Amino acid sequence: MAASATVAELGASVRGEVIGPDDSRYEEARAVFNAMIDKRPAAIVRCVDVDDVRAGIRVARERGLTLAIRGGGHNGGGLGTCEGGLVLDLTPMSEVTVEPAAKMVRVQGGALLGEIDTATYEHGLAVPVGIISTTGVGGFTLGGGTGHLTRGYGLTIDHLVAATVVLADGSVVQADAEHEKDLFWAIRGGGGNFGVVTSFSFTCVPVKNVIAGPMFWPIERTEEILTWYRSFIGEQPGSLGGFFNFHSVPPVDMFPAEHHLKKVCGVVWCCTDLEHANELLAPARALEPIIDGVGEVPLPALNSVFDGLYCPGDQWYWRADFIDAVPDEAVALNKEWGEKMPTWKSGMHMYPIDGPMSQIGNDETAWAYRDAKWVQVIVGVDPDPANAGALRDWCVGYHEALHPYSMGGAYVNMMMEEGQERVKASYRGNYDRLARIKTQYDPENFFRVNQNIRPA
Ligand SMILES: Cc1cc2nc3c(=O)[nH]c(=O)nc-3n(C[C@H](O)[C@H](O)[C@H](O)COP(=O)(O)OP(=O)(O)OC[C@H]3O[C@@H](n4cnc5c(N)ncnc54)[C@H](O)[C@@H]3O)c2cc1C
Repeated sequence: MAASATVAELGASVRGEVIGPDDSRYEEARAVFNAMIDKRPAAIVRCVDVDDVRAGIRVARERGLTLAIRGGGHNGGGLGTCEGGLVLDLTPMSEVTVEPAAKMVRVQGGALLGEIDTATYEHGLAVPVGIISTTGVGGFTLGGGTGHLTRGYGLTIDHLVAATVVLADGSVVQADAEHEKDLFWAIRGGGGNFGVVTSFSFTCVPVKNVIAGPMFWPIERTEEILTWYRSFIGEQPGSLGGFFNFHSVPPVDMFPAEHHLKKVCGVVWCCTDLEHANELLAPARALEPIIDGVGEVPLPALNSVFDGLYCPGDQWYWRADFIDAVPDEAVALNKEWGEKMPTWKSGMHMYPIDGPMSQIGNDETAWAYRDAKWVQVIVGVDPDPANAGALRDWCVGYHEALHPYSMGGAYVNMMMEEGQERVKASYRGNYDRLARIKTQYDPENFFRVNQNIRPA
């Protein structure tokens, strides 16, 4: 009854679709990327413009409903939905406008990363984004944004120059270097805590094609390869990125059948210096990988190459940490836990985040770990819900074993809901300022379906 009244009021207030539990589209509309998350909101509003966002906020406030903001719905902890509340699904707001002469792109708050890549590519431009094209620009950017280009060009927030934000009181503000400066500082890493971002403006970088792809070695060689990688990557120019990983070789045509499903360690490379790529990668090739899938590709193709492997509807369990070193004991523990990967889609990635982003101070944006060298993320993934417990146990066990070698906090985009102490550790010395800004912009903690920063 309450749900149908909410749906009726929203239906009269917004231009986008409103989907309640009685709607035949409800099951599809409530689903998020991680099938481990099974929440039933009272209504989902597919917002088509800023006024729909404002109306959704008003109705949620008046009815005392929890509000979740959905960008791409990729969040591991399921922060793009909520139980019994209202979901503002921004995906219809996906317009991308490139200004090639200014090397800028303006992106609506519900666009997916692949939509930015496709639009900018034809102009020989790119925004450094993530490694899967179906991730939402909203959650991804507000948490920081790492990807193949991070070593050369920094985080996605380092390219954010302006955002339009709908605040908890329904007002609409522009946040940039001149306006709402505290808010602009906070949204560069502080997640969806401060409002609904309906538009992002980014500067672009001149990247079109790259030399990229995976090299894999048998997982038994982890000690040799990871020990080599930990010092090699930091000595390279920013034009060479490469994340170390554990995986099982996906059973797809691009890999030789004799290696399918074998557990491997590897590096997924991305080099923007096409002329010198072979020279830069020669030391890796000298280690004789069993698979060398590196070649020239358009950046949008690289950024979508894993889309088929990681499609919506799998069970996911995440754990992450920032690390600044990989001592020998950590190498040995990584090998031990990598060999125990519970399913073939599970894995571990170490994204290098040294380079230009570390020249920005920890207190210059809300992202508080610019002195870290890697984001390490462990993911348990499988289509079968019966394996959910095994994914979680492996992921948590692996994380607990390695956490003592970490810097303490995690990248907020790669966490489950892990409690307030983890959130505080992840914002480190920036937490108190974030809490003060939260008090200014959202004193009642209306936006709380996120890695929550509580008002001071
Ligand atoms: C397969 C996969 C690959 C990934 N690869 C990368 C990667 O390469 N690099 C990386 O950094 N991260 C990566 N991530 C993590 C990703 O950044 C986070 O999951 C992020 O939260 C996804 O954003 P979303 O908009 O898709 O998520 P959603 O679940 O829709 O939202 C996540 C959070 O952001 C908030 N939010 C979303 N949009 C807005 C908005 N417009 N305004 C205000 N708040 C908003 C939501 O309220 C919620 O709290 C990946 C995740 C997956 C599942």
